[in-house]
Amino acid sequence: MQAYKYSTECGHTEPQTFRVDPKRLRRRMVSQLEAQGISDPNVLKAMAAVPRHLFIQDALEAQAYQDAPIPIGCGQSISQPYIVALMSELLEVRQGLRVLEVGTGSGYQAAVLAALGCTVFTIERLRELYLNASALLRQMPFRGIYTYLGDGTLGMPDAAPFERIIVTAGSPETPQPLLDQLEEGGILLIPVGMRPRQYLMRLRKRQGRVESETLEPVIFVDLIGDHGW
Ligand code: SAM
Repeated sequence: MQAYKYSTECGHTEPQTFRVDPKRLRRRMVSQLEAQGISDPNVLKAMAAVPRHLFIQDALEAQAYQDAPIPIGCGQSISQPYIVALMSELLEVRQGLRVLEVGTGSGYQAAVLAALGCTVFTIERLRELYLNASALLRQMPFRGIYTYLGDGTLGMPDAAPFERIIVTAGSPETPQPLLDQLEEGGILLIPVGMRPRQYLMRLRKRQGRVESETLEPVIFVDLIGDHGW
């Protein structure tokens, strides 16, 4: 097998054994995302910049650029590229926003948000995933990612308010602490519904009131905690 070793667009070195250059695989993935309707150029650029295969366990690495969720251990999974790109687009992020992510998992979504220029506070309830993602994110060239271990349904009162909140696990309802910690004018994106299927909900806080939109049907692992399952 041909071995590739080179730098990504974001300057990270990839000591890899891929048949095809991962950069090429990412470019192909981005073309597919465009064909699927992702149109925000900044999101597409971020998806091209983050080396997704580094967030996948070695044995499954070859599947990294397929449009499918992949197990990351502890019964959890990394979302498929389309869902990561869609949620990043729906979140309407821009440089400098403070974003809370509930459900760090592999750390990939957090890296994409950081590549978009956000300061990311990401919280994970499972220690093993928290440790793995923290170590990996520390090696990434993106600044401004802060990882925490705990129940994200409680939000992070010490760091609140947030301009954006993204929940990457499915909840029976929107946790009230997250709504409380959303800044005026902010957006909260969360999969809500009964198992196994949810709808992606986008909530906006305007003049103290919450406006909600029901978007795409999705399937996420459970959001487990005081204000989740
Ligand atoms: N965003 C992740 C990524 O890029 O890899 C994928 C997230 S995975 C679909 C959902 C994650 O949410 C799992 O790692 C799970 O342990 C975590 N989770 C579930 N309930 C949680 C809670 N109350 N607080 C924090 N994390 C939680």
